Order: sequence, then C-alpha cells, then structure tokens
Amino acid sequence: MRPDRTYLDWNATAPLHPAAREAMLAALDLRGNPSSPHGDGRAARALIERARERLSDVFGVASRNVYFTSGATEAANWVLHPQAGPGSKPLQALLIGATEHACIQAGHRFPAHAVSQLPVLPDGRIDLAALEARLSALTAQHGTGCAMVALQAANNETGVLQPIDEVRALLEPHGAVLVCDAVQALGRAPIPRADFLFVSAHKIGGPTGVGAVIFASEALSPPPLIAGGGQERRQRSGTENVAGISGFAAAVEAVIQSQPLSVAHAAKLRDKIERGLQEIHGETVVLASSVSRLVNTTCFAVPGMSSETALIALDLAGIAVSSGAACSSGKVASSHVLAAMQVPEALARGALRVSTGPTTQEADVETFLSAWREIIARRFQHAA
Ligand code: PLP
Repeated sequence: MRPDRTYLDWNATAPLHPAAREAMLAALDLRGNPSSPHGDGRAARALIERARERLSDVFGVASRNVYFTSGATEAANWVLHPQAGPGSKPLQALLIGATEHACIQAGHRFPAHAVSQLPVLPDGRIDLAALEARLSALTAQHGTGCAMVALQAANNETGVLQPIDEVRALLEPHGAVLVCDAVQALGRAPIPRADFLFVSAHKIGGPTGVGAVIFASEALSPPPLIAGGGQERRQRSGTENVAGISGFAAAVEAVIQSQPLSVAHAAKLRDKIERGLQEIHGETVVLASSVSRLVNTTCFAVPGMSSETALIALDLAGIAVSSGAACSSGKVASSHVLAAMQVPEALARGALRVSTGPTTQEADVETFLSAWREIIARRFQHAA
C-alpha cells in the first residue's frame, strides 16, 4: 500500500499479506509443471497439494474436496448447474438471494426459466418465510432434491450476515442443495457449512485470480466448466496457478490464525468510524445497522450527498473507499443490494462503503474522518 494513501476498501481487494508474498516468491522460483513426473514437476505438485491440505484443514473436509479455481466468479459459473446435486436426478430450480454478488445472479448453466430470486427483508437478511414457501411448492411439484439455493454468508456492500445455519436446517427436509458464497466471510466471520462453499484469495490478502470451491462431499458432481488436460481430478483443466495457490493457502492460514484479534480490532475501528460519521453529520444513515454485520464493514449514506461526488473527493484526499459493488464499479451504478433492501433510491445514490482490515490503523480512520468532515462542510455550506 502506498504510504501517502489511506486504503479503506478491503472488501474490494485486501492488500497482499506478507505470508502470501513470501509463499508466492518461493513458488515463482520453481520451474516445473505440476503435471510433469520429474523432480521439478513433483516439487511444484507438492506445493499445490500442501496448499490443498491447508485449506482442507481450515474447512474441515477431505483434501480431495478442495478444488482450486481462478476465483469465486469461476466457481459460480462451474457449480450453478442442474447436474450439480448428489444424485442423477437433475435439479429443477435455482433460488438466488436478491442481494447476491453479480457473479451468481445470472444463474449460469441453469435454464433461465428455472432461476428465480429470493427476496430479502429490509434489514438485508433473507426472507425465510418466502424461502420455505418456495421450497414447499417445489417439493410438492417435483419431489425432494429438486432445488439449489445460492446464498452468501456475508454481503460485500453492507456486510449483512445471512442466517446460513437456519437456512440449512430449512433446506434439509426438502433435500435442497446449498451453495454458499463465503468470499467476504472468510477470516471475518464464522464459516458456515454448505454443500458448496466459494472462497477467493484476494479478499483475504492472497493474490487476485485464484480461489477455491469446497465440496461438502464427493457425491456432488457439477460437470466441469473448463475441459482439457484433466487437472484438479478432471474437474478443472488448465495448468495450475502454482504461485497463486501457494499465496492463497498462506493467506488463508494467516487470516484464520489471527481472526480473533483482527475481528476485535475491526470492531473497535468500526465503532470509531460510525461514531465519527454521526458526529460529523447527524442525519447519516448506517445501512443494516440493526442486524449482525461483518465487523470490518460500514455502508452509510448522507441524504443529499451523491456517492460519486464523495468518492471523487475522498480519492483526491488520498482515501480509497467504495460505492456500490467494486466488481462493477469504475462506473458508479446504483446498487441492486440496496434496492432489494428497499432503501429509497435518493438515499441509495449516496451510499459509500468503508471496509478495513488487520493492518488498518486508528490513524487511517482519523484521516478518513477529517477528510469527510471537510467534504460534508463544503457540500452543505454550498447548499445553504
Ligand atoms: N462474491 C462476493 C461476495 C464478492 O465480494 C466478490 C468480489 O467482489 C465475488 C463473489 C467475486 O469473487 P472473485 O473476484 O474471486 O471472482
């Protein structure tokens, strides 16, 4: 991170963790193809398998149930398939939470008519009654084991934590398959159990362009998305990203080890941020403040302040935050997450996200708050 800038956009991409850098540098010095049977190849293979074991320990599955991908977007494209369930019977329906990340929203290899959205309550949590009603109707029509449900553990914009354990219990009698996007939860919140879990390295201090799908069991079998040389037990072809996978595993281990401390640290910073925002402008709305959220995330808006203007002003002051989902930003589009939560459009247009990480200092928060104080003063002086 450049020392002259303040980085408060960890949910978009976290800065590289020193342990990940070290592991990647060591891997980059290897020269073998992990599929080659000679010593150089075997050395590269050993790094991948060691990384797989490290992830399998963290997620409590057998290492053969960890598949490396290029990230969560690829994982969604792979797993969202009618044949992904445990039996040979194709899944008839895919239910997707209304606040899911764009990488899941399309439903991918399900036919469009089989894909539908699940509403969330105004607090951002999934509407469990609506989920139960949909599943009951589907089970009545097609029998058990006919549906897949895709729900994230934590939302990237608001930090809202979904009640995944409750959802899993609700799905069980219907034999529905649960896909959980744990990209933002990893290292920041408890990792739930699901049939498929998606994780991504760059949200936790690993490199961009690598992630994994954790299968709960070998009975699950979405058809491969990328065919070719048969790597990853024939499920995901292409020569493995050895350095990326090594950096990813090192980052996973580091964030899990430091999670109790980093969560407490983030909670302190979030309190300071949210207190400061209210002090600066009493009409500030912290979105989803009534429910369990990621401790590192504050999504807020000030009525009458556009997020585009605020983002530019903060950037000029050397501060990186986000508005809406970073994956679709560059352009500031209005947020489907806030729309699903029925946040009034005028307020949603001003929403900003501040997200911190283990190396964020109190001084970074102070820098942000003092810049924000000036921006608010300028904005509302002009209006007066
Ligand atoms: N899911 C969530 C909740 C995210 O925040 C992101 C990235 O912003 C993704 C999925 C996509 O992950 P990847 O960049 O690994 O494709």
